[in-house]
Formats: sequence, structure tokens, C-alpha cells
Amino acid sequence: MNSARRIVVTGRVQGVGYRPFVYVTAQKLGLTGTVLNGSGKVFIHAEGPGEALDQLELALIDSAPPLARPQLAESVAAEAIGATEFSILASSDTGDAEIHVPPDLYTCDDCVEELTTAEERRFGYPFINCTQCGPRYTIITAMPYDRPNTSMAGFPLCDDCRREYESPLDRRFHAQPLACPKCGPQLVFVGGRQAGDGNDFDRRDSIRPHGGLQQTVEALNRGLIIAVKGVGGYHLVCDAANDKAVARLRERKHRPDKPLAVMFPLAGEDGLDIVRESLQLDEVTSQTLLDPARPIVLVKKRLDFSLAKNLAPGLSELGAFLPYSPLHHQLLKAFGKPMVATSGNISGEPVITDETEVESRLAQVADAFLHHNRPIVRPADDPVVRPIEGRARAIRLGRGTAPVERNLPSAIGRPTLAVGGHLKVTIALAWDRRVVISPHIGELDSRRSMEVFNQNINDIQTLYDVKTKTIVCDLHPGYASTRWAAAQELPVTKVQHHAAHASALAGEHPDVDEWLMFTWDGVGYGSDGTLWGGEALAGRPGKWTRKASFRPFKLAGGDQAGRQPWRSAAALLWTVGVRHAGDDYFHSPEQASSHNAPDPINLQLAHRAWQNNINTHTTTAAGRLFDAAAALVLGRHLASFEGQGPMELEQVVSGKFGPVSLPLNPDHAGILRSDWAPLLPVLQNPSISVGDRAALFHATMARALVDQAIELRKTHSFDAVGLSGGVFQNRVLTELVVDMLAEQGIEARLHQDIPANDGGLSFGQIIEAMNTK
Ligand SMILES: [Zn+2]
Ligand SMILES: [Zn+2]
Repeated sequence: MNSARRIVVTGRVQGVGYRPFVYVTAQKLGLTGTVLNGSGKVFIHAEGPGEALDQLELALIDSAPPLARPQLAESVAAEAIGATEFSILASSDTGDAEIHVPPDLYTCDDCVEELTTAEERRFGYPFINCTQCGPRYTIITAMPYDRPNTSMAGFPLCDDCRREYESPLDRRFHAQPLACPKCGPQLVFVGGRQAGDGNDFDRRDSIRPHGGLQQTVEALNRGLIIAVKGVGGYHLVCDAANDKAVARLRERKHRPDKPLAVMFPLAGEDGLDIVRESLQLDEVTSQTLLDPARPIVLVKKRLDFSLAKNLAPGLSELGAFLPYSPLHHQLLKAFGKPMVATSGNISGEPVITDETEVESRLAQVADAFLHHNRPIVRPADDPVVRPIEGRARAIRLGRGTAPVERNLPSAIGRPTLAVGGHLKVTIALAWDRRVVISPHIGELDSRRSMEVFNQNINDIQTLYDVKTKTIVCDLHPGYASTRWAAAQELPVTKVQHHAAHASALAGEHPDVDEWLMFTWDGVGYGSDGTLWGGEALAGRPGKWTRKASFRPFKLAGGDQAGRQPWRSAAALLWTVGVRHAGDDYFHSPEQASSHNAPDPINLQLAHRAWQNNINTHTTTAAGRLFDAAAALVLGRHLASFEGQGPMELEQVVSGKFGPVSLPLNPDHAGILRSDWAPLLPVLQNPSISVGDRAALFHATMARALVDQAIELRKTHSFDAVGLSGGVFQNRVLTELVVDMLAEQGIEARLHQDIPANDGGLSFGQIIEAMNTK
């Protein structure tokens, strides 16, 4: 006796080969009926013996294709219509809002196999893909995800490709970006205008299939810099073993020190043999490198590290990743060596995606360009993760992870858009019980950043077919995102910076009710008008109360402080009354070889401004204490990128060195204050080694945090301590704190998929806003 069932599956089921999987599974079970995509859901009507229907229902979740994330939304008895076969119906737009936008997927093993097999018609074709792999988010112009709604719309399928596309049992059945050398995108290699160094490529030299790849490899071997169009934007690439090439890239990009990511060719059984020649892999880093998102992973260098010295100067870690698109596979296979692959952009801006723009804006940087003609609809930088406490933690969201889709702990009242802060901006859109977070956009300092910011805001609402009814932004009146929010004709909720950090972490751990949340970062506008950044907040989303912090200090130089760590060091010295502007210290013999100590005249001018409250603000930012320590211990007085001093300080920590005990007392408002003053003489003591002073500083900061937690535990009950804010990207500090808290029987929670830095603010703003009022 046959029965019939109607099954609805939601979750990530589009663009991952889910319908062909349903088709094959149903056929195997001898069932008849139909399967159909409708705006993100899969609707199945199946007829057959009840037992087979049960098996189908189980298999739909348990045996789904690897990249699918199906959820069973509905399974009810239906009326049998006497279907004689199982068939796949064309997509229908049911107007339902359950839309899931698939991320860009790394090239699957089957496609790599074809790519490298000479008999295959896609042998060596850098745009090979299938239902399990290929570009998605960066080529989708509208949902539902079908070829006409992608930037592949301009590439009509050839007969061979069409046959594959239409054959339900083919692994390219309805693979929307499907392409082959006959009908798909092509590479174009173009010599640049950059003069010198034997750059003799003719412009528009090589508009012939596959030619571009060879020329790129030749250029790499000659030590040149090439802008290569990838999945979510351009990379600037060069030989990672060539010091001169790397130096030239740094000079042209005005990026003297900031670490550069390196893409490694696959080799050996697990693909990681060449990585192992340079880096110290363990289980976590190996697994993370092979993660489907193919993120950039920060990994410790080997002691006999033999790639270019200037890839990550002063740091013991390197950002490493593996090829994720067929073009990268081809390029690295032909080159055979690790290759620098850093974002093709102007510092702080989103990665460039357009051929004309890259040729004009990176004309002074790249010797040549490797373009392709598959348009990138929106930029997505490579994601970055760092292993801390035994698992990878998100540092930057991007290609392969974005848009990040999450469920909310409860339904949000009305569609809400959160626009983040100012640095490392992401945006988030929430409706019903869902929230989606954009990839990393960048710093909102330039026209292009604002354009991409606006595009993301429009796109996210269009793709998910949700119109926002309200906006959440930071409390800081000077942020471009705050001003943007004010200019919209929608209600605006302002969320304090550290409340947003705290709620971002709480949103990742909905099982915790009461928190003691440490939010440490470089700067955030406080509800009292001072700049916070070393705050302990107790409570839960929507109900945070500031309980502890650091002794406040006055800092001169406004926004310059982040790039001029000496200002933080000087401010601490001046606050405790070191005579004559700390002059003795900055020009002591130990500091003679330091990085750009301020000259005596500048120092005096700064001191006078500081005394007279000219362009000063009061701050409690832990990030600035780290800056100060880097200046005092390492002589890192000027930083060429945000966080450089603290990163360097973390990496020189040697051995275990006991903490200095910091006095902890309540201020007039009852907020506990850790006083950093006892640190100063020790940090300046040249008879203690640099490594020991760095260790001592980290231990002291960890001790101060734990002391605050122990003191607050006497008057407040909390289920867990949370660590959020950019400072907790510091592994040494974070692991120390987690251990020390555990000794006190206190559980610590860390960020996982949401960045601890300002990239996590938009998500936190959503969580905070939905719990306010
Ligand atoms: Zn594939
Ligand atoms: Zn074709």
C-alpha cells in the first residue's frame, strides 16, 4: 500500500547539489514524486511504501552533501497523485523569505582531479566547478540562485555544458557557474605601466587561452609583482622566497611592516608538505588550513624558516593559506613554490574587484595584471583565523565564510540593520529568528570604503528580500557609520561600543545567563564621554553594568595615538609625575636603537599640550596600555599599522615570569580600578631582559583581570567570564587568563565564529538592540 508525504527542507540547501541528491536518494529507495526549489526551501512530494518514506526523511538530513546544512522544516502526510517517476521541477519563486545565500566554495577534489587529468575536456581550465564547488556569493546578483541571477549570465552554455547542466545524474546538474574552455570565462594577461626591473611586457600582450597563466609564472620567477583576479577580488602576488620582490611590494604598497599572507602549493598526502617546510603545524592548524572556507591561518614559523625575512618582520607567526580556486591551483602548481597573496587594495579599503579600477589604482604597485572576464559582483576579502585555546577563532570574516548566517536566540521584533563601528567594519541584518553578517568591509575612511559599505547595505536587503525598519549604530558621534545612520529616515538605536562587544560574545553563547564580561580594546566611546577600552561589564545583553576598569589616564594626540605608541607611554609616565616629559627615558642608551623615539622638541611640545589639555582625552583602554608597554619594552614608538606594538610584544614573551601586583580599589562611583602605575619602573628596567619584561607585562594584565573577577564574585553571581574586544586576539594573554580563571573555578568563554575585534560589533549591536527596552 503506497502512501505519500510532503517534506520541506530549509537551511543551506541551495547551490550545494541538494536537489540532485534528493533525486538520486528517492530513486534508490524506489520512490516517485517531485522535488522543487522555492526561495531557499526544498519542497519534496514523495510516494511509496511508508518504510521507504521514513528512510528518505532520515537520509535528507543525515546523508546530505557535505556543504549542505539542511533542517527538516515539515513532514506531513499528503494525498498520493499516482506519480510514476521521480522528477526535478524548475525553481519556483514562492515569495517566501526563507533565503540562504551560499558562500563561495573551495574547489572540490573531483574538480581538482579533472583539472589535472589530460584527457578531461576541462584539463587545466581555471574556471572549472560543479554543484559542490565554485563561486557563489561573489557572483550572485539576485536570489533565487540560478544562472541568470549570477554574473555567469553573459556566458551562454555550449552544447556539452548544457547536457551536463540538464542531466539529473551528472555532478554538474544545475551547477549554476558551470563553464568550460569553449563557453566560459578566460584569462587575460596584461603588462603594467610600472617602469624598471626588466618589465618589458607589452600591454594587451596575451589575449589567448591559458597564455596568461604561463606569463604570470614567468613574471613570478623574475621577481615581479602581479595583480591576480581571484574569487572575491584581486590579490597582489609575488615570490614568497624572494626578499627583494617582497621589499618592492612593501615599498610600492606603502606597507613597511604589516604581515603579508602566503599561499602554499599543495603537496604530499594531506596537501600540507610544503607548508610544513616553513611552519610548525599541529592538529588544529592543519585542520584549519584544510577547512572548506580555506581561511588564512596564523601559524608559527619554524626556527629554520627560509622564506623571505620580510614577510612578517618582528613576528614569529605567518598567515598561511591553501589554493581554493582552480586558478590558484593552476598558478601554484605551475610556480611550485609559496607565493605572497595579499589583498589588492589601497590600505584599509575593501579589496578591488574591477579590471579598470585595478589597472588605474594599482598602476604604481603591480608590474602586470592577470584578469579574467567573470565579473565579481561584490568584494570578499580572504577570511583570517587564529588558533587560540585549541580552536580557530575568527579574526576577519570574508570569502568562503560570508555571509555568516546564524539563528537568533529569540525572534527580533522588526527587521534591524546594524552598521558596526569605524575600523574593520561589517554590517548585519536581522529579522525573525535570523541574522546575517557581511564580509569584512574595512575602515570607513575613504570613498571606496563608503561605496562598498552602501553596496553591502543595499545588497544584503535585496538578496534576503528583507527591508530594514530600524538601524543600530555605535555611540561614537564621529564615526562615518553613525553619521550614515543619522542620515536615514529610520529610527536609530545607539549602542555603546563595549556593550556591543559583550553582547556579540553573549550571542555566541546563548546558554550562559549571567556574565562577567571583560571588553578590552584600543578605543570605544563610553557612556560618560571618555574613551573606554578596559571595562568589566556585568549582566546580560540589554542590561550591562560597568563594574571594573583601569585607572584612567589622559592621552594627547587624538586619533594619532594608535599609530604613535610613544604617546601612550609618555602619558603614563607624565601621569605618575616623571620629571621633564619622560625625556630621560626616551633618550636613554637602551632606547637609542629604538623605532623612532620622538625628538626632544616634539616631546616637549606634546608635554605642554598634554599639560594644557589641548587635544587630549581621558581613557581606560587596555589596548593603549599594551601600546605603552611595547614602547617601553621594545622601543616601538611608532607603529605602521594598528596593533603592531602589542603584536610584537606578544611574540617576544619568553618563559614564565611572575606578575606585578596592581592595586585594586573602587573609585568614587564604586567602579573597581586596577592601577597600572607599579608596572612602569619594571617595564623600564634594562636589567630585566626584553622577553622577561614582555612576559611579566602579560602576566600582570592577566592577574589584574583575574583579581577583578575574584573581587566582583564577592558581590555578584555570574555563570561565566567572557573575553571580548580586540585585545583578546592576543593568544598569550587569553590563554593565560583562561588558565588562571580555571584555577579559581571560573569558566571563561571566548569568541568562535564572530571576531573579538570590531568586526564583531554589528552582530553584537543586533543582540544588544533586541534586548534593550
Ligand atoms: Zn567541484
Ligand atoms: Zn561549455
